[in-house]
Amino acid sequence: VLRVRDARRHYVSGDSVVRALDGVSFEINPGEVVGILGPSGSGKSTLLLIAGLLEPPTAGEVFIRDRCVSSVGADLDSLRDFRRDNIGFVFQKANLIPFLSAVENVALALEIDDVPSRPARAYAEHLLESVDLAHRIDNLPTRLSGGEQQRVAVARALANDPALILADEPTAALDSVRGRQVIGLFRQIADTRQAAVAVVTHDPRVLDLFDRTIELRDGRIVAEKPLSADGNNSLQNATAAQDRSQ
Ligand code: ATP
Ligand code: MG
Repeated sequence: VLRVRDARRHYVSGDSVVRALDGVSFEINPGEVVGILGPSGSGKSTLLLIAGLLEPPTAGEVFIRDRCVSSVGADLDSLRDFRRDNIGFVFQKANLIPFLSAVENVALALEIDDVPSRPARAYAEHLLESVDLAHRIDNLPTRLSGGEQQRVAVARALANDPALILADEPTAALDSVRGRQVIGLFRQIADTRQAAVAVVTHDPRVLDLFDRTIELRDGRIVAEKPLSADGNNSLQNATAAQDRSQ
């Protein structure tokens, strides 16, 4: 679903250049949940921004569903619709709209430019059921626990049935059980919808839930576990991507 090729992202600060990403290549296949690890400042969030078409790379390319969607100088504004149709984001904080109930928060993602209509609401309820929140749909965010808010955020990210889900430290604010629950949910979405999921995390308690991990340091990949058999599974990837697009 996602293929990043030799992505670089440099930030100029004063007279020095920060190489936030310094040549990163990897892919995520349908149905895979991949953990992205590494110390603070190693480039994890930058990688998600580039993979999520929120920032253009300084060099390199991003392919989503086999389409080259981002390279140097790409007009990310023109990719807004593509992003909305294909990518779901979950951040460290749930960022729910405080004066809307759980179901309204999710429904809003279905009908971006209008007041949620009946069918949007029904589908939002269905999504909240799928994250085990059927009993909380009318609660305002302040009446939800941190884990429940994060599950609403996951339901909201699923609203467009994305092929690719990108999550930046989604369990950081949660206890062990709730953290595992959120990653377990990604696991389930990957299995049932064949979505590809990338999760940035520092959280050792969820590592066993990933199919693979990629570890960054100073903007480069320093470890991948487990290693793919030949270090290059592009053939398998192409086939899987084709399946996904059908
Ligand atoms: P953390 O675990 O603390 O969230 P991270 O791995 O997500 O760290 P990034 O946020 O990707 O790290 O940052 C990578 C490097 O790029 C850091 O040195 C950071 O200071 C720098 N950086 C990130 N965004 C910018 C920006 N907008 N302008 C300048 N430098 C930036
Ligand atoms: Mg970060």
